[in-house]
Amino acid sequence: MNPSRTPLIAGNWKMFHGGQSSVPLAAGVVEFAKELTNVEVVVAPPFTALAAVAAELHGSPVGLAGQNLHPKPEGAYTGEISGPFLRECGCAWVIVGHSERRQYFGETDAVVADKVSAALANGLIPIACVGETLAQREAGETLRVVKAQVEAFLDVIAQSSEAVAIAYEPVWAIGTGKTAGPAEAEEVHAAIRTWLANKAQSLADRTRILYGGSVKADNAAALLACPNVDGALVGGASLDPGSFGAIARAAQAK
Ligand code: PEP
Repeated sequence: MNPSRTPLIAGNWKMFHGGQSSVPLAAGVVEFAKELTNVEVVVAPPFTALAAVAAELHGSPVGLAGQNLHPKPEGAYTGEISGPFLRECGCAWVIVGHSERRQYFGETDAVVADKVSAALANGLIPIACVGETLAQREAGETLRVVKAQVEAFLDVIAQSSEAVAIAYEPVWAIGTGKTAGPAEAEEVHAAIRTWLANKAQSLADRTRILYGGSVKADNAAALLACPNVDGALVGGASLDPGSFGAIARAAQAK
């Protein structure tokens, strides 16, 4: 394993757990993370829980992520949150271009690229999400679609020396209980690695490519064993420290 590709397990809490119920959940993550070696753990609570979770994570190795950011640092954008605000809350990470943002909030590849750029400009490590829909997979368009999504922010990440993360999340596998099999995941991850290497080998070497889509305690080990799977972006199973901890422990075997 390349040392700059330490396995990364990130939990996306989506719109679950506000400032109160997120605190015991964060405490559970801190507890299991104490036992881990060679695995990085990050959690992404809702915005209103960030400050409380940051306080709970203080002094622990668990990182904090926003679930989204606005491309501008500030301005008249009611309801939005900027990169500097996430930094101020204690975030070092931010999820960008999650399929739910693309699907329900109209985020295009160009918007995602702007957000990746804003994240890096503000010292946040983006976890940039890509992935095909079921219709696209069935039409044999998976690699074409994912390549276009990656190419939208390729120049931005190549220009930065920061080690960003890309999450390959097939849309049909998110929250559905359907998971890409290890071979299906590895095919796309290896392709992403090749596209990065075509830009710059150093970019391919430093970028962690996470798998996301119904990762659970019982399928994590097989997915994480794939050579180009450097970790997981976990939704539902990250809401239970027992399951999330089991996934993180499976990453230790890499
Ligand atoms: C996600 O939200 O990024 C995700 C992968 O969700 P789930 O694990 O629930 O499929």
